[in-house]
Amino acid sequence: MIMDEIKTLKKELGNKVVIPVHHYQAKEIVDVADFVGDSYMLAVDCSKTNAQFIVFCGVLFMAQCADILGSSEQKVVIPVPTADCPMANMANLATVEKVFSSLPNNENIAPIVYMNSYADLKSFCGKHGGSVCTSSNAEKIMKYYLDQGKQVLFFPDRNLGINTAMKLGLSEKDTINSKNIAAYNNERVILWDGFCPIHLNFTVSDVTEMRKKYPEAKVIVHPESTKEVVDNADDSGSTEYILKKIEASPDGSSWIVGTESTFVKRLAVQFPAKNIYMLKDSVCANMAKTTPELLHKTLLNVKQHIENGTPLENIVTVENEYKEFAAQSLKKMIEIVSK
Ligand code: SF4
Repeated sequence: MIMDEIKTLKKELGNKVVIPVHHYQAKEIVDVADFVGDSYMLAVDCSKTNAQFIVFCGVLFMAQCADILGSSEQKVVIPVPTADCPMANMANLATVEKVFSSLPNNENIAPIVYMNSYADLKSFCGKHGGSVCTSSNAEKIMKYYLDQGKQVLFFPDRNLGINTAMKLGLSEKDTINSKNIAAYNNERVILWDGFCPIHLNFTVSDVTEMRKKYPEAKVIVHPESTKEVVDNADDSGSTEYILKKIEASPDGSSWIVGTESTFVKRLAVQFPAKNIYMLKDSVCANMAKTTPELLHKTLLNVKQHIENGTPLENIVTVENEYKEFAAQSLKKMIEIVSK
């Protein structure tokens, strides 16, 4: 019933509204999406839309990106303003500025901020010649700066940082955790100490147990998992990479997937001819906050706003002081990836 009402509202609103939906959202929300993707795909898609209202189904930092990349006429709203990301809260501007300014020769250090961060940190990166990255392009972005002989300050996710550095052929000795910054000795990659609690849930013994249960299956994990879990898996990559890899695999193939469970369950429905198992049940509670009821309420509010001037609720706006440089660091990412 509620789904029918959402579809009717969507039809009535036509091209005035787009609904970008992250892969970790519930199936019902995905079913009414205009585009579905990981945070990189959604940022690119949002930068191209002309819709007047962007109803973003994901978490807050993603909706902020839509506002940063959108035009001044567009409005971004989010069905659940409390859909936060614990990892994004693990780095704040004051602490990042403190660490960065304490580093010698910091003009040679490129700050790279994971998409999972707030606009002030993206702005910091833009100001200091750095870039945003996502899990689908972290390798390309880090390589871009390392190839220029720069060092990298990578935040907030230490796991994505170290897993990316390893993929680029660096060793753990080339990295230092920002908690030990007093011992800094020109390591090539300085890693912030943040993490995603959902991906940190996966352990090497989970991999071992699941391999015993399904010996024919390949293990594929997200690089927000620890280095040990990634080392013990057969493959690792972003949500989009995992999706493409499973999609391209032959029918009858078996996969143990280490990423957010809502997404893994959806993969199992989407590819019934393949055997898809969760490495472990690990749900992002913040992504799960968006329900059909709340999406319906948001669309209704947008409709009433257009028709009667009802105040628009749950608007996501990035402060002007951060917008310009945050846009610069997002555009830098898009530019490096498109090279
Ligand atoms: S899955 Fe992890 S990184 Fe993604 S929104 Fe949830 S807590 Fe944040």
